[in-house]
Amino acid sequence: TLPTIFVITPTYTRPVQKAELTRLANTFLHVQNLHWVVVEDSPRRTNLVSNLLEKAGLNFTHLNVETPKSLKLGLSWIPSHTPRGTLQRNLGLHWLRDSFSNTAPPEGVVYFADDDNTYSLELFEEILSDNFNKPPHFQAIAMDGKTRQEIGGEIGIDKDKDESVRESTCMSVKLECMEMMRYTRRVSVWPVAFVGGLRYESPKVSPAGKVVGWKTVFDPNRPFAIDMAGFAISIKLILEKPHASFKLEGVKGGYQETSLLKDLVTMDGLEPKAANCTKVLVWHTRTERPTLVNEGKRGFTDPRVEV
Ligand code: UDP
Ligand code: MN
Repeated sequence: TLPTIFVITPTYTRPVQKAELTRLANTFLHVQNLHWVVVEDSPRRTNLVSNLLEKAGLNFTHLNVETPKSLKLGLSWIPSHTPRGTLQRNLGLHWLRDSFSNTAPPEGVVYFADDDNTYSLELFEEILSDNFNKPPHFQAIAMDGKTRQEIGGEIGIDKDKDESVRESTCMSVKLECMEMMRYTRRVSVWPVAFVGGLRYESPKVSPAGKVVGWKTVFDPNRPFAIDMAGFAISIKLILEKPHASFKLEGVKGGYQETSLLKDLVTMDGLEPKAANCTKVLVWHTRTERPTLVNEGKRGFTDPRVEV
């Protein structure tokens, strides 16, 4: 079977929450072998989220942990220091480690997907052709331990030798397969749009296909100058390093991702995805807060209607 993608999504109650989660569910319904770990920032699991998850038709786990007021207030002098979703992501990691402490873990990855971002299906599958419905075929290659370059070379040779187009197509499908985040060996990385004051930020990839730095304006010397939406971690690595988690204290703005990743990998262990980090497949969009100034006037609106 295909390796599993565990998606950890922190979420909190606000007017647009159901819209955000509906959009996310609709995206994830198109992705094979996905397990959605939704972690509410709330004192208890809410009916709104419970019902949405029950109806969505996805494999899911529903958790909650409330960010203490003290934590929000205590650090809120500097807005970027206020932890947003941090405890929730850590609980998701804890759930994963707990779930596979006695049973053998599945092959797969963890991906942190905030509820307001926009995700291309290509981020998860990288290929949407008819050829895609042949997972076991792909897996053989992925498990071979071949590198992108090796497989890429074979495609070139196939074409030079003028072998059948079918064979060449088959190879390119295998190549695409290697690109999928679910085949991450340790940590894979890719560009994210609308972060750091840029159209997009990206890992810097050498001609040899290695990550050698960060194409960012904001503090490119960070050990991992990458947004939360720009990486996935193998389950194996998460279980091998049981103490790795997002830090709450002493984390400078923009260092949240580093606080986890530095305990898991070094830069040369990173695997570039999204066509060697040349494609933007995820956007750090932010949803406008709706105007509700007329709420409560003239008996509007019906509070029994869930929005
Ligand atoms: N979040 C949360 N509690 C909060 C604020 C945010 O659980 O008090 C979640 C939110 O739903 C999102 C993630 O944390 O999934 C990141 O928050 P947000 O999108 O507001 O951050 P930004 O886009 O500014 O990085
Ligand atoms: Mn956001």
